[in-house]
Amino acid sequence: AEGALARAKAGGPGQTHEFDPAEQLVEQSRRWLRDAIDAALASGTQFELHYQPFVRLADRALLGFEALIRWRHPERGLIMPGDFIPVAEASGQICAIGRWALLEAAAQLRRWQPLGFTGEVAVNLSGVQLERDIELLADARATLAALGDVPTHRLKLEVTESMAMANPQRSAEVLQELARMGFKLSIDDFGTGYSSLAYLHRFPFDTLKVDRSFVIRLAAGREAQEIVRTIVGLALALGKQTLAEGVEDEKQAALLEQLGVQVGQGWLFAKALPQAQATEAIKSAPWRR
Ligand code: C2E
Ligand code: MG
Ligand code: MG
Ligand code: MG
Repeated sequence: AEGALARAKAGGPGQTHEFDPAEQLVEQSRRWLRDAIDAALASGTQFELHYQPFVRLADRALLGFEALIRWRHPERGLIMPGDFIPVAEASGQICAIGRWALLEAAAQLRRWQPLGFTGEVAVNLSGVQLERDIELLADARATLAALGDVPTHRLKLEVTESMAMANPQRSAEVLQELARMGFKLSIDDFGTGYSSLAYLHRFPFDTLKVDRSFVIRLAAGREAQEIVRTIVGLALALGKQTLAEGVEDEKQAALLEQLGVQVGQGWLFAKALPQAQATEAIKSAPWRR
């Protein structure tokens, strides 16, 4: 058996792969997911956006929501984005999912308009959407139409730092075009990628989202605090806002506020809420600008 294994390894990845039962199982479940995503897109009813509030740390005023996608599968129940977005990115299906998310967020802003809600809704973009820039810009134009009389700046687009920096020159051009159309932009998961400071100032973003990993380490001591202080300083120098993600307790909120972070998002304030609950949150928490 040892000899066979050694021979199989020497045969290279092409040969060992085809007969690896674990690999086959993974491929089967990928195929299942791809078909199920197609069916979900066709049904038009299985994807949902949930809305996680973000608040001004100083007074906890509701400033807006991040739209987070969930998939309510008829047999499997609620599926979280981490369990299907990677497959959808590999297959390219993420572009259709992302288009749906943009149009749904625009429709939601429109539905909330009569409640007097003038905050933001932030939608996550995939790196695949960013690469397929012509398609993305067409989707962005369709989103403008879907917004109706809701001002474009109420819709924010989130792009992760590592996505934007994968091809910074091209990202800068696409993001500039989106900003010209009037969308706001956030750099998501900031601090986890390799930022080129030479490019950061060419991205027309409004908000830096400090990654949750720094928030987690805040209480442990000075190091994470200094990193957050540096990010806030950088953002201030560029005239941008900072938002901390994954705020779970009051101690973190107080530290973040001391460090100059203006906006917080996390379970301390609320989890991602289904549409009806987000609507209740808007009604019950009249919020000031
Ligand atoms: P993200 O954009 O960084 O979103 C934040 C994630 O952190 C969300 O997970 C949110 O539920 C979670 N979170 C928020 N507050 C807390 C907290 O206090 N503690 C902890 N432990 N977690 C918190 P979720 O909803 O599972 O989404 C995961 C990722 O999936 C998102 O990360 C985003 O990258 C991606 N995603 C979600 N919706 C979409 C979408 O419509 N399109 C694309 N392309 N990606 C999406
Ligand atoms: Mg995000
Ligand atoms: Mg994030
Ligand atoms: Mg994150």
